[in-house]
Amino acid sequence: MHGGPAARGVRGGGRVASGDAAAQRERNREAPKIDRLGARIAELFRPYRVPLVIIIVLVIAAAGLGVLPPLLTQQVFDVGLFPLDGGGPNMPELTRLLVIMVTLFIVSGGIGVLQTYMTARVGNRVMGDLRERLFAHLQSMELAFFTRTKTGVIQSRIQNDVGGVAGVLSNTVSSVIGNTVTVIAAFVAMLLLSWQLTLIAVVIMPVLVIAQRRVGQVRARIAGRTQESLSEMTAITQETLSVSGVLLAKTYAREGMESERYAAENSNQIALQVKQTMSGQVFFALVTVFMSAVPAIVYLCAGWILARGGAGAVDITAGTIVAFTTVQARLLFPLTNLMRVALDLQTSKALFARIFEYLDLEPAIRDAEQARVPSDADGRAGCVEFANVTFSYDDAAPDERPTLDDISFTVGAGEFVAFVGPSGSGKTTIGSLIPRLYDATSGSVKYAGDDVRELQHEALVERVGVVTQEPYLFHASIADNLRYAKPDATDAELERVARMANIHDTIVGFADGYETIVGERGYRLSGGEKQRIAIARVLLKDPRVLVLDEATSALDTVNERVVQRALDSARTGRTTIAIAHRLSTIVGADRIYVVSAGRIVESGTHAELLARGGAYAELTEQQR
Ligand code: ATP
Repeated sequence: MHGGPAARGVRGGGRVASGDAAAQRERNREAPKIDRLGARIAELFRPYRVPLVIIIVLVIAAAGLGVLPPLLTQQVFDVGLFPLDGGGPNMPELTRLLVIMVTLFIVSGGIGVLQTYMTARVGNRVMGDLRERLFAHLQSMELAFFTRTKTGVIQSRIQNDVGGVAGVLSNTVSSVIGNTVTVIAAFVAMLLLSWQLTLIAVVIMPVLVIAQRRVGQVRARIAGRTQESLSEMTAITQETLSVSGVLLAKTYAREGMESERYAAENSNQIALQVKQTMSGQVFFALVTVFMSAVPAIVYLCAGWILARGGAGAVDITAGTIVAFTTVQARLLFPLTNLMRVALDLQTSKALFARIFEYLDLEPAIRDAEQARVPSDADGRAGCVEFANVTFSYDDAAPDERPTLDDISFTVGAGEFVAFVGPSGSGKTTIGSLIPRLYDATSGSVKYAGDDVRELQHEALVERVGVVTQEPYLFHASIADNLRYAKPDATDAELERVARMANIHDTIVGFADGYETIVGERGYRLSGGEKQRIAIARVLLKDPRVLVLDEATSALDTVNERVVQRALDSARTGRTTIAIAHRLSTIVGADRIYVVSAGRIVESGTHAELLARGGAYAELTEQQR
């Protein structure tokens, strides 16, 4: 499976006018449908069962305590202030009741703080786990996923979507629990005070709950679109505010156009955010009106019950009515909060769905169940073989001519072979298939006699070093970039490989030497310097097989010769597969394969191929 709908969905809408219909559709994409979403969210909390149980205990304790203040209020009125047996206020009793009341508030406050701390911790950890899982999962995705998905869109899932549920996970958990406690406590207190009045106060609740669900559904739909738009904005930022993006915009004087593109998406984002905030506001206004109107109804009904007299009227004292309306008024805030939280939860489902959608992506390239470690036996280790390999980048277009068409060759351990041919003929693709950046569509790529699909990927990659056409360096020091290949390499080792790649003298010429920060993607360095650092890095890795894709293309003639010599010595004892444009660099190869339109059309040594007077001779002629 290649990325699912999300990955496919984000492919379009790149550098197109904001009014473009396809781009608009992308931005309006709603949250994906995920099965068992609630259960899967609950599963995230599984490792935190113990703290959750403690939280629940705290909640119940708080709920128990929460029932008492209103009952005390009733007592304060009916026993302390206006004793029902007539007479003046009972001061000792009043003082006792008030001391109990204040103590209760202090204890509840303490429990509240502890509970908030624990819920915030659990919430944030769950979110942290999710972020880590997503990051690790994305690392395991195949290269093709990244070539077809905008980087910013991927970043947005980790940052904006997980960040979005972070608020829900930490705030919601404490809010749900805290408010539930208050609401339950208030209901219990109301029931204890007067079940008749409680019935009147809650009769409309089911209507509110149904309305709330509807509002939540609408809000979740808008949230999906908001996140999609946010990811588009991240993509624009990431694309245009990077060194490469800014360079492109500046050299084409397109800063204005980029700002407009951003502004258009920003307007969309603003509109969606406002929509999201406003969805439900009318509902909440109605809830507030209703809850505020309840005391009036309660007074009316109480008057009615009292006027009729009978058994029910006995329970309804002034204290009961005052206590009841106090509780009911206190209910308004937590109840609205709870509804708001429920709404946020529903909204967050859209975000969770987006996160799970990425977590559910199946990496196309993964270890087989019985994957083996590649053989390191002499004679086998370092052998690379292609047996009738056909490969297409797009499996979905079988009718198109494949990028590689029935390629077969064998490179013995320690051999030096080269691939030459016109641009776009498939040379780089051949190199990519060896460390399994892609899998062959048919046929088999073998390392040390085993199909690479039967080998442990990590172990295979350890044995294959690649220097790509555009070497990538991190925004870190030269030493850190080199150590990427071998984190525990000593300074002496760094120097040794840097000397081999003819970059040592250049590095020590910089003010900060090996500690020079290379800038994003290595922009601080010239093309040739970058390339030589990449060569030094792969030499530090010391692989059995070296794939050099145009490794010397960015070097001047003098440098090229020096690096060539370094590579010649680096080749000793390992298989080298060079993909070359400059034929001068591969004259000494054991075998040269000429690739044209995805097929090997000629092979032999330089001298043999020249003598043959075919495609290779023609290429040599062109480069004279
Ligand atoms: P050059 O000498 O210019 O580097 P090459 O011989 O190395 O070219 P490849 O990079 O292997 O050529 O590309 C072979 C073909 O595959 C080209 O037509 C290219 O457009 C296509 N191609 C390369 N990478 C991808 C990709 N990720 N997705 C789809 N098509 C691709």
